[in-house]
Amino acid sequence: MSLVSVVIPAYNEEDNIVVIIDRLECVFRQTELNVEFIIVDDGSTDKTALILKTMAKVKPNLYFIEFSRNFGHQIALKAGLDKAMGDCIISLDADLQHPPELIIEMLQKWQEGYEVVYTRRIEDKKLPFIKRKTSSLFYKTLNILSSIKIEEGTADFRLMDKKVIDVFRDLGENEPFIRGLVKWMGYSQFAIDYTPSSRFAGASKYNFRKMVKLALHGVTSFSIRPLYTAAYLGFIFSLLSVLYIPYVLYSFFMGIEVDGWASLIMTVVFFGGLQLIILGIIGIYVGKMFMQTKNRPNYIIRNTNLPNSN
Ligand code: UDP
Ligand code: MG
Repeated sequence: MSLVSVVIPAYNEEDNIVVIIDRLECVFRQTELNVEFIIVDDGSTDKTALILKTMAKVKPNLYFIEFSRNFGHQIALKAGLDKAMGDCIISLDADLQHPPELIIEMLQKWQEGYEVVYTRRIEDKKLPFIKRKTSSLFYKTLNILSSIKIEEGTADFRLMDKKVIDVFRDLGENEPFIRGLVKWMGYSQFAIDYTPSSRFAGASKYNFRKMVKLALHGVTSFSIRPLYTAAYLGFIFSLLSVLYIPYVLYSFFMGIEVDGWASLIMTVVFFGGLQLIILGIIGIYVGKMFMQTKNRPNYIIRNTNLPNSN
């Protein structure tokens, strides 16, 4: 009988853990499959870790990975994917926004032979306006600026076959952007649309700052197009300034007085800003190279009940 792993990253989700495991168990009772749960406690400061330890005592198929500190959602997910032993692995959020009942359909598609079954969130009116708009802007920018296309509303709620996970584990990226990597890996992928539920308990851990960071990270992980854009901008403005020279020379020799201050200060401020932005873009890529060359582990595990793990 096949084994299915369910990976859940959890950061301060004390009120959700028990409920989500319960719902998942209900779902898996309808199937003939074995299941193991791998819950990654991403440095929670509430009772998440304690609850997990207590649950693991009575549920032999529940494993927890406790990080030494908060490493972030993507890294927590990666840790779970690294350690899962199933023939296929399903990942979902701890807050029940991803309905566990959809798993039945995902498993059917997997049994039909699809290697990746991912989900697309249908535009949800319940979600705050700002969140909807920023999320849609995020995918639009990402797709304009990078070479792979990620569909709008695809979060980290998906099923991956063991062979896809094996490839994923060997990628060795320092800061993985999992959504993008899954698309990049290819294989036969199937999409299921769903309406997200609202968060069961607690608050969202993604604030505006974290979302901007994820967006920049997504773009710069998958493409060097921003660098090309910077270079093109440089060419365009150099060309424009060359066209400007005859005008300046003409005015000089004809003795025409040119009003300087306003145009000068505008150009200085504009180009000052532009140069800083471009420098920043280059800086992000250099920073990424710096982090990658250090070759540090993605995460540090303080405690786990997984077999063969330290
Ligand atoms: N999460 C995490 N580490 C973090 C932030 C979030 O493991 O630093 C987990 C969180 O517990 C949840 C999932 O990632 O299971 C998605 O987070 P959240 O629901 O806060 O994001 P949103 O749905 O608001 O985008
Ligand atoms: Mg959520």
